[in-house]
Amino acid sequence: MKVPLLDLKTQYKTIKDEILKITAEIYESQYFILGPHVEKLENEIANYCKTKYALGVSSGTDALLLALMASGIKEGDSVITSPYTFFATAGSIVRVGAKPVFVDIEPDTYNISPQKISEALNSLKEAERKTLKAIIPVHLYGQCADMDPILEIAKKNNLLVIEDAAQAIGAEYKNKRAGSLGDFGCFSFFPSKNLGAFGDGGIITANASSFYERMHILRVHGSHPKYYHKYIGGNFRLDALQAAIVSVKLKYLDEWTAARQNNAKKYRTLFSNAALSEYIILPAEKENRHIYNQFIIKVSGKRDELRTHLNNAGIGSEVYYPVPLHLQQCFSYLGYKKGNMPVSEDASANTLALPIYPELTEDMQVYVVEKIKEFYR
Ligand SMILES: *Cc1c(COP(=O)(O)O)cnc(C)c1O
Repeated sequence: MKVPLLDLKTQYKTIKDEILKITAEIYESQYFILGPHVEKLENEIANYCKTKYALGVSSGTDALLLALMASGIKEGDSVITSPYTFFATAGSIVRVGAKPVFVDIEPDTYNISPQKISEALNSLKEAERKTLKAIIPVHLYGQCADMDPILEIAKKNNLLVIEDAAQAIGAEYKNKRAGSLGDFGCFSFFPSKNLGAFGDGGIITANASSFYERMHILRVHGSHPKYYHKYIGGNFRLDALQAAIVSVKLKYLDEWTAARQNNAKKYRTLFSNAALSEYIILPAEKENRHIYNQFIIKVSGKRDELRTHLNNAGIGSEVYYPVPLHLQQCFSYLGYKKGNMPVSEDASANTLALPIYPELTEDMQVYVVEKIKEFYR
């Protein structure tokens, strides 16, 4: 049996007619950049995330960059974030000239630890503390970070909160949607996300009109009115084609999310029946709407050998992420050393993503767990 990590072709078959119809309309109109399809999607996403505004942009990475730019974060500033995330989270901080300050994660959710944020703040000298401008919590794998204490710390220290919600569209924390908790919510439409485009795309949610208006201008080179440049922005525009495709998919997102959650539940039953708790830790489901962009197991050693074993059996898996950001070569100038972020380092060495996509069948899940059992036997 073949079990890929993700199977977008099966999903495409279910929406193909709708996609072909709407994209054909756009070809006829020859209107490709921003415009009514992007505005429609912006309204739908603001509604879905329960925010006042949403602004379609060119990628999740650019969503982060634009949020940082609209916050006025620049050289000499610093921003707290997690070292256990996709590169773009920290890369964007550096691209506006600021410095990332890494804070280790919680061992059960892999999200940034509020307790350790407090400790980091307390250990900073007054001069360094003054450079801090924001916190970027990442809602990793589809589960919100522990936002209440993070928001409290931010308020007390006058820091903005930019949610990296690239993996978490529709996730909830205490009945509030990802993207509505902080000052900005940054989402990605990269094809492997739960709501993926047919190429690159992203969106930023916000509640403050001042931030929204600034981002709106920055998205088109800071031009307002046209050819009069108020700020130095960039080309951060979303294509009409991508917006229209994402808008079709959004109608099915809750259905697909429910299927992912159901698959997670099935894995829990199968793993429990296989009696593998000695070898494998299943993902903790702490916050109330985990949307399972990834289903992550943590193993007690031999992760890479397990991965090879699964690969040989036709089962796809992935390591998100093999090197925590504080140990990446490009960030060596920040001075972090191995051992500085032990929880992230442990997660990087021992976690593995298993297939969890909505169209995964029960037979496939049974096969995955069987093969994992075989490995440990
Ligand atoms: C995917 C992702 C991004 C970047 O999104 P792109 O659309 O690929 O630029 C940023 N942060 C996290 C946590 C992601 O998973």
